[in-house]
Amino acid sequence: MRFASIQTEKGSFLCPEPLVEISNPSLFSIKHSTMLTTPSINPSFSLDSNLQTYLSGRHLLIDELPFPIDQLHSHYLNGSILYEKGILLNKNRYCCQRCGNDDQTLFASFSCFRCKEEQCTYCRKCIIMGRVSECTPLIRWVGPARDKELSAGLAWDGTLSELQKEASQRICEAVGEPKEMLVWAVCGAGKTEILFEGIERALRLGLRVCLASPRTDVITELYPRFEKAFPKAGVAALYGGHSELTSPSSLVLSTTHQLFRFKNAFDVIVVDEVDAFPFSYDRTLKFAVDKAAVDQSTRIYLSATPSNKMKQRVRSQNLEVIHISKRFHGYPLPVPHYKWCGNWSKLLKKQRIPSVIRQWIKEKLASGRQAFLFVPTIEQLDTVYSILKENPEIDSVHSSDPDRIEKIKRFRKGEIKMLLTTTILERGVTVPKIDVGVLGSDHDVFSSNALVQIAGRAGRSVEDPYGEVVYFHFGKTSAMVSAKREIQNHNRRAGLVTRR
Ligand SMILES: [Zn+2]
Ligand SMILES: [Zn+2]
Repeated sequence: MRFASIQTEKGSFLCPEPLVEISNPSLFSIKHSTMLTTPSINPSFSLDSNLQTYLSGRHLLIDELPFPIDQLHSHYLNGSILYEKGILLNKNRYCCQRCGNDDQTLFASFSCFRCKEEQCTYCRKCIIMGRVSECTPLIRWVGPARDKELSAGLAWDGTLSELQKEASQRICEAVGEPKEMLVWAVCGAGKTEILFEGIERALRLGLRVCLASPRTDVITELYPRFEKAFPKAGVAALYGGHSELTSPSSLVLSTTHQLFRFKNAFDVIVVDEVDAFPFSYDRTLKFAVDKAAVDQSTRIYLSATPSNKMKQRVRSQNLEVIHISKRFHGYPLPVPHYKWCGNWSKLLKKQRIPSVIRQWIKEKLASGRQAFLFVPTIEQLDTVYSILKENPEIDSVHSSDPDRIEKIKRFRKGEIKMLLTTTILERGVTVPKIDVGVLGSDHDVFSSNALVQIAGRAGRSVEDPYGEVVYFHFGKTSAMVSAKREIQNHNRRAGLVTRR
């Protein structure tokens, strides 16, 4: 789309191409515009409340707005909408205003039908959300704020452990304060529940809250729980193909990726699994959170395995921390033990599984319990599975497996006894009675954090609070040593005796 310049009594402003009445020779791309302000607010203009709800706090392309252009434009002329450049060029460097990308190799140019220019540059990094190019305006609401609705009211009647209570109390105190806080909670600590009271307090104060996670399955799992706990908040869940926000929600659950479609929207942002792939605590995630949060926001990061950078900030007292070192059921974390298994990768190449691991598999299947066996690569996983597949109790799953969701469901139901997997299942899946083995824990793919998360799959239920974790290796790595040390440190901090 191009714009023309129009004169009003308040000055000269933009007019989108479809609304230019006479053929105007001076149509231009927004990239050439220097007048990106909005006319002053006209208090007697009657706002479209649907548009106001849809656009408040958001940062969207025209194509993403289900409203006609003349309606958008009348709101612009009356001071409620801002047209912004999608791509900024500053000192010969491009920067995407939606996703913050400034890596010059992630920009490309094309001959553009919309702005009729030979070289129209666009951002490749966020293209999956619809192309932002130099001639694409990003639209933002700058008009009056929506009327606050009563959205508070917590309908959750579970009980919190002493540690959870303390954490919940500190989160409540932080809400409404401009601060950052890390909740460093061990796997299985019950970190969702400790957020409830803080969120309730935020909603009572009329604040807007977002819980963001790097992973879609976390959002879809949390959504029904939050909907039930906050029946008046009109909870919205945004992920993948579900990016529309049609109700005036004060509580939004969103993948971190979807945060790029917000600007100055949230007073409180909780980032779950701040260390998880694909958004480790890197610049992209930081940009997304910075953009979606209001200036004086409360930011709460949740992690069982924070990055070294975050731990460093904690040590230098640059980041407030709440430790929850005990699981919700009060039992210690299962401490992994090491078992030497010989040159496992060489054996796998010969289509053989190390005998200690074979023995372990046999014992597990005989015990009637369920187990995960983690394998470093998809190729090695396929080898192990091809050797074991005669046994109907064993199945395998990896990231590009089309039946992935189905298999995990069957494992949860107990129809599969042993699931061979890559690190894709290091987080998220909770099965009550489970043991865990890692074949080749000395492989590079098993970072210290990955090994801590993997160990965290065992002993999660109160009926079966223990569980065995074995790292099968051909030489201990520092990642293995530090994973074990970290788990023992948590147990010590929680005042719990470690079993091994
Ligand atoms: Zn971008
Ligand atoms: Zn263009």
